[in-house]
Amino acid sequence: MIAIDTVLVKLASRCNLDCGYCYVYNMGDDGWKGQPKRMAPDVVRALAAGLAELRAAQGTDFSVVFHGGEPLLAGPGRFAETCGLLRRALPRTCGLHLQTNGLLLSDAVLATCAEHEVGISISVDGPADVHDRHRPDKAGRGSHSRVMEGIRRLRAHPAAATLFSGVLAVIDLAADPGEVYDSLKDTGAPGIDFLYRDGNHDVLPVGKAGPLSTEYGAWMCRLLDVYLRDRHPVPVRVLDDMLKLLLGGVSRKEGVGLEAYGILVVDTDGSVNKNDTLKSAFGNADRFAVEWSVATHDLRQIVGSAEFAAYHRAQRPSAPACLACPDLKVCGGGMPAHRWSTRNGFANPSVFCADQQRLIDAMRSHLARNRLAA
Ligand code: SF4
Repeated sequence: MIAIDTVLVKLASRCNLDCGYCYVYNMGDDGWKGQPKRMAPDVVRALAAGLAELRAAQGTDFSVVFHGGEPLLAGPGRFAETCGLLRRALPRTCGLHLQTNGLLLSDAVLATCAEHEVGISISVDGPADVHDRHRPDKAGRGSHSRVMEGIRRLRAHPAAATLFSGVLAVIDLAADPGEVYDSLKDTGAPGIDFLYRDGNHDVLPVGKAGPLSTEYGAWMCRLLDVYLRDRHPVPVRVLDDMLKLLLGGVSRKEGVGLEAYGILVVDTDGSVNKNDTLKSAFGNADRFAVEWSVATHDLRQIVGSAEFAAYHRAQRPSAPACLACPDLKVCGGGMPAHRWSTRNGFANPSVFCADQQRLIDAMRSHLARNRLAA
């Protein structure tokens, strides 16, 4: 059976922001409209029971990540009940994490996170002007000041050192990488991560002139320079992962390297789906042929099925160019969603192939200059 290491739980299917780049709401897939707004208590109970069985069967821990939409739209009461149920069902060694836009990070939510040891990662794209360009609320107002208020409340909490796990930013090519890095560092987060804008070979990511252009690679190289010059850096996960892979180590998260991650996604109605970033490729790309649900199916059987195994294998790149690529072990062919074209399906290099090669070259040069093997 495939070992699951991450369970993404969609506690709420709606969001209180209207981010222009969001793959859930603004990239053509409207499957969220058919989802209940919040995960119902009976679904949460079925989920907790199913995860307990799965954890016992596989014998290794996984992390449960509360996702959305905005997961805190479940409400502070439902959020607390869910954390309590999962904590009682799973060993304490299984991590609980919250990925939130920070707007609803109230004292009640922080108390729940402290009680149940829930790590909090906050989505923030950089300084106010950069963040507010892409992350307005439904009324079109910027959200930066409210996110910073959530972060301030989090940092003031007595358990902040263990609760605050990091910030996650989506890259804006128009922003200065140094200013973005400095502003994210100023949040006091213990770690920073970056995501490329979504896109594929049919619909290029914003700012990319063509599949061979390297706008994102150039941006990441400038970020790398800033990061490597910083005498007191805050770890940038994606850069650290790639540097580690170049030095023969392993990555920690999906997106780079060849490590296959066992990711289980449970939607608000309890249905079990594929990684929802696939929604950016085409409508219902995140759906299995079988309509599985935590309410009616055994998670051990789902994870042990041939269809789940095929989905897991699909993380591996299949394009001939990737299989022959000297950078494959570091790049890993990128996220499956970024490989998509109507013509070849997922059998393409990442649409960020040239960007990744440019960044890997810059990392190799840095390691060579510092007499570190790569
Ligand atoms: S996407 Fe490009 S850089 Fe990455 S493994 Fe494939 S060919 Fe190599």
